[in-house]
Amino acid sequence: MVLLGAPGSGKGTQAAILAGRLGVPAISTGDMLRQAVAAGSALGRSVEGTMMRGKLVDDATMAEIVRRRLEEDDARRGFLLDGYPRTVPQAGTLEEILAGQQARLDAVVLIEVPEPVLVERALARKRSDDTEEAIRERLVEYGKKTEPLVRYYQVRSLLREVDGEGSVSEVTAAVSAALEV
Ligand code: AMP
Repeated sequence: MVLLGAPGSGKGTQAAILAGRLGVPAISTGDMLRQAVAAGSALGRSVEGTMMRGKLVDDATMAEIVRRRLEEDDARRGFLLDGYPRTVPQAGTLEEILAGQQARLDAVVLIEVPEPVLVERALARKRSDDTEEAIRERLVEYGKKTEPLVRYYQVRSLLREVDGEGSVSEVTAAVSAALEV
C-alpha cells in the first residue's frame, strides 16, 4: 500500500500504526534520507541541501533507494510506503519494481488535511528540515509534483480518500475503514 498526503498530513504516523497492526514494514523514504544525512554517507551528503530547501530529491536517486529497500526480505509479504512515490515518474518506477516481483499495489490512501493545518502541524514537530520556508516550499512541491498522483491512482481504481483533520486515533479508524483492515 501507499500512503499519500501533503507534508504534515500525518501519513508517517498512520503508516507506523498501520504497519504494526498489519505486520508489514512502514517504509519512509524521508526517514531513510534523514538517516543518510545523519550518518554523513555519500548519499546523505548529496541530498542534504535539497532536503533543507524543501525540494524533491531526483527520481533516479529515489528509484535506487526504493528498489533496494523493496528487495529486502521483510518487504516480501507486503509494505506500507510513506513518502514514495512523490512524482508521476516515481509511480511508474514503483509499478516496474513491483511487476518484477510479481506483486502489485493493493491500495493508495490519500490523507486530506487543509493547508493552514498542515503548516501548523509541520511547525509544531520541529524537525531539522522544518524551517517555515522549507515547509512552504514542500507544500508548493507537493501541489506541483505529487498532487497529479491523485488522478493517476484514481484512474487505476486504487485511490481511497480519508479525512485527516481529526485526532490520530480518529484518522487511524478512518484509514482502517477505507482499507477494510
Ligand atoms: P518526508 O519526511 O517524506 O517529508 O521527506 C523529507 C524530504 O526528503 C523531502 O522534503 C524530500 O526532500 C526528500 N524526499 C523524501 N521522499 C522523497 C521522494 N519520494 N522523492 C523525492 N524526495 C523525497
